[in-house]
Parts: sequence; C-alpha cells; structure tokens
Amino acid sequence: MSRDTKPNGDFDDDAKPNGRPLAEIKDAVLAAAKAMHARGIVEGTAGNVSGRVDDGTVVVTPSSLGYEAMTLDDLVVVDLDGHVVAGERSPTSEKGVHLAALAAHPEAGAVVHCHAKHASMFAVARQPIPAAIDEFVIYIGGDVPVCEYHQSGSDPLAAAVAAALADRSAALMANHGLVTIGKSVDDALHSALVVEHNAEIMWGARLLGAVAELPAQARTDFAGVYDFVRHHTWRG
Ligand SMILES: [Zn+2]
Repeated sequence: MSRDTKPNGDFDDDAKPNGRPLAEIKDAVLAAAKAMHARGIVEGTAGNVSGRVDDGTVVVTPSSLGYEAMTLDDLVVVDLDGHVVAGERSPTSEKGVHLAALAAHPEAGAVVHCHAKHASMFAVARQPIPAAIDEFVIYIGGDVPVCEYHQSGSDPLAAAVAAALADRSAALMANHGLVTIGKSVDDALHSALVVEHNAEIMWGARLLGAVAELPAQARTDFAGVYDFVRHHTWRG
C-alpha cells in the first residue's frame, strides 16, 4: 500500500501533490516544448507545457515565443492562481487550463496542450477519439472525450477540461486541440503522442469502413489498470 492510500484503500486527496525540484521541472518542460515542435504536433508558437514543482508552484512555457529559440530563462513560474512567481516573460495565455487540471488532480505532475493534426480533426468534428487499441486504454483510461466549446483562455474552458480529465489522461477542447496530463512532463508528452497516433489510426480505420470497438471486458479491465497506476504510482 502506498503512503498516500488510506487504510480502506481510498485515495487520499490530502496527500502532497505530485511535484519535483524546480531545476528538474524546468529542464523537462523545455525539453518537452522542443520535442512537441520537433514531432510536429504544434505550429508556430501554439501549444504549451507545464510541470508542477515540489513547492506547489508550476513552471509554464511563455506566451508567443517560438520553441526553437526558447531557453530555460524564458520559462515562467506561477502559483496555482496564475500569479507570476518568477520569470521575465508572460505565461502562456492558456495557463488556466494547465492550472485547473493540476489543481483538480494532485496526482498529476504535468500538462501538455497541443494542436496535433489528427486529434484536432476529432476536436473540430466534436467526436471523441475511440479507444479501440488495447494499450491505449492502459495509457489514457478510455475514449478521449470532447469538452463543450468555450473560448480559449476562459475559466469555463479550464473547468470543463479539468473535469474531463478526472478518469483519463486526455481530453479534446472542441474546435481547438488536445490536452493531456501525466505523472511527469515526459509522460504527459508521451500521452499526447499516443493520442495523436491513435487519432490518425481511427481516422484511417473509418475510411476503410468502421472502427470495431474493443470488447467491453477488455475496456473495463484496462481502465482498471489505468486507474490503479494513476492513483497508486503517479505520486511516487
Ligand atoms: Zn491552443
């Protein structure tokens, strides 16, 4: 039994949130931002990355800065209310989504937001991305749901995304793009890449005919694995 599990097995939300030392998080956020650009899941200055520090603050990527030129000094440290604690630049205008997700889910250590092409196709069509590949449910928890449309940067959008991430690691923002969470910055980026890969396969499978769903028992079993891992290992 992990230290953040109560004797009855319930998850203890009073346990310390998932966080790592500042220098480690800054390195991870910068590396993920550059990887996001290198892997082609963002265009220009779109998309953003955040990671939670062990003092409760959050490192976020800055607003309106290209990823190739970005350095550690460009990253911004904010508190969960969005106030800048350190850094010269303005935090991403989409910080509300990151902070709401981290506040609602203390086991999450990081958030990635991107405009990956195939995932965004489902976001624009306002269709969930089906979890029709076995391992996908283990990584993500189930289908990737679509949150109702709210304007970018708004509080209702942040709240809707945080709620959608309660039992899975990815959600689509209608007519916008993808948000993922993870144990670490690397894991949140990995989830974004897994979702984009899956979205491309589901899009192609539909062109071939129809997507055959996984058997219900497999979905239930794999969702159970996802839930266990998230609530028993993400906080170490
Ligand atoms: Zn965006």
